[in-house]
Amino acid sequence: MSSVEAIVDLDAYRHNLSAVGAIAHGSQLMAVVKADGYGHGIVPIARAAQEAGASWLGVATPDEAMTLRAHGVTGPILCWLATPDTSWDEVVDAGIEVTASSTEQLAEIAGCGADSRPRVQLKVDTGLTRNGAYGSHWSELVDAAAREQGRGRIEVTGVWSHLACADQPKSAVTATQETAFARALEVVHDAGFEPGLRHLANSAATLVHPTTHLDMVRVGIAAYGINPAPRLRHDADLRPVMTLRARLAHVKRVSAGQGVSYGHTWRAERETTLGLVPIGYAEGIHRSGTNAFRLGFGGSQVRQVGTICMDQFVVDLGDLEAQRGDWIHLFGNGDHGEPLANTWAETVGTIGYEVVTRLGGRIVRVYRGDA
Ligand SMILES: *Cc1c(COP(=O)(O)O)cnc(C)c1O
Repeated sequence: MSSVEAIVDLDAYRHNLSAVGAIAHGSQLMAVVKADGYGHGIVPIARAAQEAGASWLGVATPDEAMTLRAHGVTGPILCWLATPDTSWDEVVDAGIEVTASSTEQLAEIAGCGADSRPRVQLKVDTGLTRNGAYGSHWSELVDAAAREQGRGRIEVTGVWSHLACADQPKSAVTATQETAFARALEVVHDAGFEPGLRHLANSAATLVHPTTHLDMVRVGIAAYGINPAPRLRHDADLRPVMTLRARLAHVKRVSAGQGVSYGHTWRAERETTLGLVPIGYAEGIHRSGTNAFRLGFGGSQVRQVGTICMDQFVVDLGDLEAQRGDWIHLFGNGDHGEPLANTWAETVGTIGYEVVTRLGGRIVRVYRGDA
């Protein structure tokens, strides 16, 4: 029995992934499970994704893809962040598809000495200006890919890009990127080979930009039950997957005027009950949420008070009945009065993505709804 738990509801994950996938029913569905399944656990999430109908899994680094294979996860996997230390031969022989964003990466992959022919997807930068071949480097990459494919050293299985502003439905950037992507595909056509899978959409684009669905959609955050932007409007019924809860480690009644935690940044206005929560910034609880977070306790909303410490923080329980060992809910689906992960995130000026991926330290993951 642990006292700090991230409960991961795999039924909710499967529900969300199918609901989002249904919006792009004409396209293949990739479940994005990078960063340890957005902090939910890469292997259980990958299995749940496949059960829910994802035909592809997507990760950032080749190492993450190798972790999936090491745990017996089969089926198509694409990785896209080619770190300079990658052993391409191992990755290719594990049946993982890799992404080339430059001619250098393509040459490394083509010459890696794997037993099987590398299956490579080409990434074009259409305006995110992060990874991907930019400007004239795209036609150089396409020409190099045509040559390597002609020599039988690689097989091109996809062409793709990533959107910068898909969670802002009014932004003109998405349409500009779609046009740039269409042009990038013409370059492939002119070089005389088939692009394979063409894909562009993340969760937000899958939800609100149907013209970006193409051959496949890459769904991350929405499947974890977190709206890509807190006020993004769409038709999918998203259910929070993760609930973070802890058991009170200490409960005490203090007098009016008592200062709480380092620096006495909060002082009790009247006699009150304080609860000690055994989790802190070492576990990923942003210290900047000091005196601002709201939590759920037995259906009521309560305030975090006093400076958040490395391993612990204090909540003001007022006159609520409380005992050592009672569960307090930090974020989740609201059943116990707790906020959504996105609301928790907004309290500290960040996004739900950062909240769930940052959790670490002593937090134990507990799975519900396992197959
Ligand atoms: C993380 C990522 C995704 C998924 O994005 P969400 O907003 O979480 O859906 C899709 N594609 C790429 C390339 C990514 O890096």
